[in-house]
Amino acid sequence: MSRRTGDGTTGPEWCRHRAGSHVAGASVTSTSGPYNRAVPSPVIGVLAVQGDVREHLHALERTGATALAVRRPEELARCQGLVLPGGESTTMIKLARNFDLLEPLRERIAARMPTFGTCAGMILLADEILDGTADQEPLGGIDITVRRNAFGRQVDSFETELAFKGLEDPVHAVFIRAPWVERVGPEVDVLARVEAGPAADTIVAVRQGALMATSFHPEVSPASTSAGGPDDRIHRLFVDLVCESA
Ligand code: GLN
Repeated sequence: MSRRTGDGTTGPEWCRHRAGSHVAGASVTSTSGPYNRAVPSPVIGVLAVQGDVREHLHALERTGATALAVRRPEELARCQGLVLPGGESTTMIKLARNFDLLEPLRERIAARMPTFGTCAGMILLADEILDGTADQEPLGGIDITVRRNAFGRQVDSFETELAFKGLEDPVHAVFIRAPWVERVGPEVDVLARVEAGPAADTIVAVRQGALMATSFHPEVSPASTSAGGPDDRIHRLFVDLVCESA
């Protein structure tokens, strides 16, 4: 994707263009996203073996990225970034193995391809899993310990407002049989915690370099932007990460 430009700078065209779009600011609308469609946009895959794939594909498309459902190693090879969706982490790992994706995924994540895991996707990205099945092995990448289905029967699915590092206004977070983060390594940045209730202070969003994960589902957030459209701010943060890492 990298090209040398007339002014001697290098980097993907969509990234440079995006920086310009930010400066332009006012010309950016929530429906077109910050990219100019006239230039190539980043290809961001969504692991598409199980789970809420379509919601992530739509959210990514709304940011202006080119979203790609990934079921084969050749599709993964085209991606500059990847989303691991919510679903069932044990099933996703089994299917990824059946689709010959397990090792290619591990390699790309180890090589620090920007990757964003939501809920089951967070479990896949964790270096250590508590309450996993006996044979559950993560892809790994983020130095965290997560506990599966951690919020318990009473509150296993709930919605709440959270402050999210890097975003001005709180996000409306939807938790569905979610994991929480019980340990974070020294390189891990905590992006969000539950703010109230029995699970107050629990870590539910993290980032380590180009790898990011949330316990909750930003792809299913109800409309909450001032413009009344879907709230894609967390997906936009991830697309920024893809851009910065290019
Ligand atoms: N409980 C699921 C798991 O262990 C995650 C739930 C979700 O992704 N909504 O994989």
